Amino acid sequence: MSEVTLRQVIRDWLAVNYTDAVRNSTEGSEIRKAWYTKLADKGWIAPHWPKQYGGADFNFQEHIALQQEFTSAGVIALPGYSGQGLNMIGPTLLEYGTDDQKARHLPGIARGEVQWCQGYSEPGSGSDLASLSTSAVLDGDHYVLNGQKIWTSDAHEADWIYVLVRTDPKAKKHDGISMVLVDINQPGVTIKPILLISGSSPFCETFFDDAIASDLIGKPNHGWTIGKRLLQHERSGIAGMGASGAAAAPTGKPHYHLAELAKQYVGAAGGRISDAVLRDEIIQHRFNQRSLQTTLARTRAENVTGVTLGFATSIFKAVGANQSKAETELQVRIMGAQGTGWEGESFSPQEIGATRNWLSRRAISIAGGTNEVQLNIIAKRVLGLPD
Ligand SMILES: Cc1cc2nc3c(=O)[nH]c(=O)nc-3n(C[C@H](O)[C@H](O)[C@H](O)COP(=O)(O)OP(=O)(O)OC[C@H]3O[C@@H](n4cnc5c(N)ncnc54)[C@H](O)[C@@H]3O)c2cc1C
Repeated sequence: MSEVTLRQVIRDWLAVNYTDAVRNSTEGSEIRKAWYTKLADKGWIAPHWPKQYGGADFNFQEHIALQQEFTSAGVIALPGYSGQGLNMIGPTLLEYGTDDQKARHLPGIARGEVQWCQGYSEPGSGSDLASLSTSAVLDGDHYVLNGQKIWTSDAHEADWIYVLVRTDPKAKKHDGISMVLVDINQPGVTIKPILLISGSSPFCETFFDDAIASDLIGKPNHGWTIGKRLLQHERSGIAGMGASGAAAAPTGKPHYHLAELAKQYVGAAGGRISDAVLRDEIIQHRFNQRSLQTTLARTRAENVTGVTLGFATSIFKAVGANQSKAETELQVRIMGAQGTGWEGESFSPQEIGATRNWLSRRAISIAGGTNEVQLNIIAKRVLGLPD
């Protein structure tokens, strides 16, 4: 099918299926679930994955065409698009998993039905991740885990967790690590949510007490390479968030969001934002976003898998994280005093949401490896500077 025909097919399908009822539905409602089922049946939740695992076998151009048509139609109801299953463990399994592991784990992700979370960080191991100490010991045909992870995003809502564990305590720290998959719904796993300044609890502490791992990915003690690869997927995703301009926008049209907001809060004259300095700032911000967007698109197009991988992801991650933060900062600044709302009737839900969004975005330059760690990787691996 030509790209032109594919775009028309997608538009026609959206005109019939992305109804106002779906657009206005809430997460968890029957209408929303039925919409996800329709998407999954088309293979359009993971369009770039093979059909046998629930995808649509789309190549890079077809995938981009789908995303663009969805964006143009203002589709905002998407399951797991930023999910750890689709963007992190899924592609890692496609690269390193056995056929059996792919067949068992990928279709649930591609249908948006199985949620995953990441068990990397520990109380004593963050930037120095390779010092992790959660242990996994082989017992018959499975591994038994003991230890603690922390900052496990969305663990309270997840079904499965992929975990970096120490399988050889005698080996050098990078060499004794493996990646295993653990079903969260078992007695050996305890999840405790952590309350954040933004008012929500997306983070958890995760405890393993003789928990059973169902799978080990790749070979035992080769988990560091696989874990790093997964981080490249994560960093590429964070960069994409910074490039999309969706950090602050509640609608499907992020590109105009800050300008519209400025007209609303600061005022407009002749259709333009009346504050010339602010106008310049918004334009400069949009330029930065477009530069990152086009650079990301170019590097993705150069890669047959359609994702930006390799050490260069650290550049994109650091730039994207800074841009995400800048966007939400600009948003609350535009709102002035109304951008400092926490609660109460003098603030709209959108204003309160903006404050919380700004606070939670502060963490994006820490998640997935801090900006300082990205700069270390760039210095060492991209520029080849001495340690
Ligand atoms: C929003 C968010 C979501 C997260 N989700 C998850 C998750 O789902 N699963 C998970 O496992 N973890 C998660 N994390 C944890 C995250 O990976 C760690 O916070 C991060 O790796 C930093 O580790 P740390 O917090 O222990 O800080 P530390 O490693 O203690 O670092 C403290 C400070 O020292 C600096 N620093 C440390 N080492 C160096 C160095 N060598 N050179 C220069 N500076 C250095 C750091 O940049 C930082 O500023 C999440 C974090 C955030 C903020």
